[in-house]
Amino acid sequence: MSIRFDSVTVAYDGDLVLDSLDLTVEPGEVMALLGPSGSGKTTALRAVAGFVRPASGRVFLGGRDVTDLPPYRRGIGMVVQQYALFPHMRVDENVAFGLKARGTARSEVRRRVGEALEMTGMAGWARRHPRELSGGQQQRVAIARALAIRPDVLLLDEPLSALDAQLRSGMLTELARLHRELPEVSMLYVTHDQIEALTLADRIAVMDRARLQACGTPQELYRAPANEFTASFVGGANLLPVTVGSGGVEFAGALVKVDTAEA
Ligand code: ADP
Repeated sequence: MSIRFDSVTVAYDGDLVLDSLDLTVEPGEVMALLGPSGSGKTTALRAVAGFVRPASGRVFLGGRDVTDLPPYRRGIGMVVQQYALFPHMRVDENVAFGLKARGTARSEVRRRVGEALEMTGMAGWARRHPRELSGGQQQRVAIARALAIRPDVLLLDEPLSALDAQLRSGMLTELARLHRELPEVSMLYVTHDQIEALTLADRIAVMDRARLQACGTPQELYRAPANEFTASFVGGANLLPVTVGSGGVEFAGALVKVDTAEA
């Protein structure tokens, strides 16, 4: 399902934190919102989720204006940095939580919880509690919980930031697999990490100081950055390629599909 920001502006105490954002995520696309801390990325995500109300502008999901809808009526799955699992509930109960809140029938809850745990490789941990799991496993459960409601849109806010480097790279591969397995689910992926954005996203929206600075495929941004900020943040100036081969450019272990033939 498409996500569209139509001139969305958000202000806190008179300070603009999102300045007339115009952006469309196509159905099934992964869009990274990439930018330094404080650039307005999370605010944009929360405007889609319904946790932040724009001062002006509208948010559309699948062409429908949802600006005035409460979060639970938007059909959205959300994963945040710090898992946010309920510690007193088992893994399967955590994953079932959103479904039960929606009044889903018990047999259907069981089916969907099983399916979501299967997809995230956590089926064997269903009856454990969060404290028995590693950080990476907890984040998988958080992703399973978001997937269990079969969302049209998945919002991910720095989902890998709390993990160590090795886990992060494994989880990136997992998220890329989920994207292939759920071709109809659009994802908005907030990160300050260029490698994550370049690896996972179909397109990247570069944010700085409350504004969209550039938007394009990783190839477009890397090859022809629209402005100086984008060049310094995404382009070759900042990310020194480790190896350049026929398959693409490899940045510190992450193969990024940048065609180097004409670069
Ligand atoms: P990012 O996700 O890019 O780090 P945020 O969207 O979280 O940026 O924040 C953008 C700006 O808005 C920051 O300067 C932040 O301090 C401010 N901000 C975010 N949430 C609030 C809030 N609830 N109240 C006041 N200021 C906020």
